[in-house]
Amino acid sequence: MASNRKLLVLPGDGIGPEVVSQVLRVVDWLAAKRSVSFDLQEGLVGGAAYDSHGTPLTDETLSDALAADAILFGSVGGPQYDDLPFELKPERGLLRLRKEMDLFANLRPAMVFDAMVDSSTLKKEVIEGLDILILRELTGGIYFAEPRGIEDLSDGTKKGFDTNLYTTPEIERIGRVAMDLARKRRNKVTSVEKANVMMSGVLWRDVMTKLFENEAHGLETEHMYADNCGMQLVRNPKQFDVIVTDNLFGDMLSDCAAMLTGSLGMLPSASLGAVDDTTQKRYALYEPVHGSAPDIAGKEMANPIAELLSFSMSLRYSFDMPEDADLIEKSIQAVLAEGIRTPDIMQEGMTLVSTSVMMDNIVSKLDRSV
Ligand code: NAD
Repeated sequence: MASNRKLLVLPGDGIGPEVVSQVLRVVDWLAAKRSVSFDLQEGLVGGAAYDSHGTPLTDETLSDALAADAILFGSVGGPQYDDLPFELKPERGLLRLRKEMDLFANLRPAMVFDAMVDSSTLKKEVIEGLDILILRELTGGIYFAEPRGIEDLSDGTKKGFDTNLYTTPEIERIGRVAMDLARKRRNKVTSVEKANVMMSGVLWRDVMTKLFENEAHGLETEHMYADNCGMQLVRNPKQFDVIVTDNLFGDMLSDCAAMLTGSLGMLPSASLGAVDDTTQKRYALYEPVHGSAPDIAGKEMANPIAELLSFSMSLRYSFDMPEDADLIEKSIQAVLAEGIRTPDIMQEGMTLVSTSVMMDNIVSKLDRSV
């Protein structure tokens, strides 16, 4: 059926195709029960693309990606590709997509489902009801800026160095995304850097301060040093709503926040580009935080919830369908509350199920919700 919602599905390698195929059952469910259809296209990426075409991302798939409203990505990689040259490795397919689409805003929610409150290493009262979002700048900063390298020194030793560099427009555009997101949530933004010791941090704070003064009308805003933020995430994570930070600190703080919630199999993410002034379109790629999990691939053991929550994020951020995203998240919550568990989140006294049976349960909750 023709639809104005163009979704490119790139399942990838390992458990990617297993969890993506389960999520497509929910896409079918939306068409059948909510009359919302997607214009679906499927492509190869990563090792799967290398096996068929000798490259982890073909130009055709890239142009499909640029034409789509959103990409639903599985995962890439596997031990059989370890010896490939750097440029042909499966992960290069994902990195090329991020670069070509300029996906500079990486959203990593950390949300604790009530039924999973005992899976965290932190005390129940600290994480019960937790729902925060880490927004990481993904295309600038120390992972990309020049100069960088390893050079020989005259005494026979070496020096290794990187550059942390941000420009005013780079800081402003990620700051604006943070404010947009906070307006759809609980209206609070915490900007994180180390302005006490880094010049890039001084500029970051200065630009964010001005941006908040001029554009954050009605939002609560604050600044925090990254080391303190790490401590606060473990001490009292519920004080936050949206945390916006650079590439390096975002890498660390988002992993820290993620682990507040328990399993890797439950963590979604989204990477967004800028809104195009003429088309009003924003490139977007949705993927679980986990990789291709070769140790469990093909065994019906993968948890499909991270992939499903990634799809649910696409409903919120690309397709303006928050009610449907709510339905999906409530169904997951209800299934977990009944003690249905894939092996990665199994606990004593609960019911162990396979990948597809987990999704059977979620779909049947969806059926009962309408
Ligand atoms: P991984 O995330 O694939 O797996 C880590 C551990 O978590 C494994 O024990 C795995 O079984 C488990 N796990 C992961 N997802 C799960 C799920 N949905 N349900 C149940 N258990 C799950 O990380 P890794 O083992 O370090 O990497 C494996 C491959 O994935 C490598 O080739 C790596 O490069 C690649 N990778 C890809 C991405 C991506 O596609 N974005 C991200 C990370 C790693």
